[in-house]
Amino acid sequence: MENKKELRNWLDAYKLDHPLVIAGPCSAETEDQVVKIAHQLKDSDASVLRAGIWKPRTRPGNFEGVGALGLKWLQTAKKETGMLTATEVANPHHVELALEHDVDILWIGARSTVSPFIVQDIAEACRGIKNPVLVKNPINPDLALWLGAVERFYTCDVQNLGVIHRGFSTYEKTKYRNIPEWQIPIDLQAKFPDLPIILDPSHIAGRRDIIQDLCQTGLDLNFDGMIIETHYDPDNAWSDAKQQITPETLVQIMKDLKVRSEGGTEAYENALNELRARIDISDETILQQLAKRMSISDEIGKVKAANNVQILQNDRWNAIKNKMINDGSQVGLSEEFIEKVYSAIHQESISHQHNIAK
Ligand code: PEP
Ligand code: MN
Repeated sequence: MENKKELRNWLDAYKLDHPLVIAGPCSAETEDQVVKIAHQLKDSDASVLRAGIWKPRTRPGNFEGVGALGLKWLQTAKKETGMLTATEVANPHHVELALEHDVDILWIGARSTVSPFIVQDIAEACRGIKNPVLVKNPINPDLALWLGAVERFYTCDVQNLGVIHRGFSTYEKTKYRNIPEWQIPIDLQAKFPDLPIILDPSHIAGRRDIIQDLCQTGLDLNFDGMIIETHYDPDNAWSDAKQQITPETLVQIMKDLKVRSEGGTEAYENALNELRARIDISDETILQQLAKRMSISDEIGKVKAANNVQILQNDRWNAIKNKMINDGSQVGLSEEFIEKVYSAIHQESISHQHNIAK
């Protein structure tokens, strides 16, 4: 991916207005449904109509998509509304059929990105195409696997690439269907600043009420657009009913979002510089405090070693964690954050004590 600048060009052509909005149902259900949703979206911020034609389902027995027939419906919707179209392709045959039916943007689903064999097959079927291909992150939080998939397309001479962040599967109970793990897309953007990145709040959320918040976070993190599942009757959608929103809600969400510009005025630069300087000072203090805390851990390590006492004291660790979660909530720090920070501090502290005991 040497010429990363090139990767960005397609976005300018497709992005009729910043940010790029792709909307439409999780699945194409009937011709009427696809065409009706396209008409409802025509005057919204969405310039691309999405609809899944082949649906990869975690468990068999759920609706698995209408198949190639639905591509004709997308064609009709495109003809009637002028919207561009996008669908998921999961094998070379899908690619061939989608291109035959003038689908503008192809995306690779999270369940395909996990498999380098499948990605390679799809990439070869896409060789040389000018259509943008958007690679969803793999189900598991693995940046290398995600980028590896992008590279497979790039080496098959697919130049118009982008990625979609749809969150990562987790066994833990959280408010999300797929946890965002924002650090991963942030790392991706730092490594490939010219690779367009689209947010999929629908699959991250798995519910309607946090779509707006997720979109705002995405914009604040410099995402280039979003892909949002939209249906005129979300409750009765044939797949992902809980997370779909109506076209009217989409319009409202877009109205309420704050799209911020990249640069700004001199006053803005001054204010930002001052705040950044304060952050730097604060970071310095945090680091010093951490170093101080670890030197106390070293002392504890010495006392334990001298008395032949084991290093890990679960009761003490639980007490610290609970106290910090409680205190943290008083000062506006989330339980998830405190848990992560203190687990890391505790681990470092244990390893300090190990080194002392050696
Ligand atoms: C989808 O976009 O409807 C879909 C199946 O997404 P994912 O591959 O992210 O699960
Ligand atoms: Mn879906």
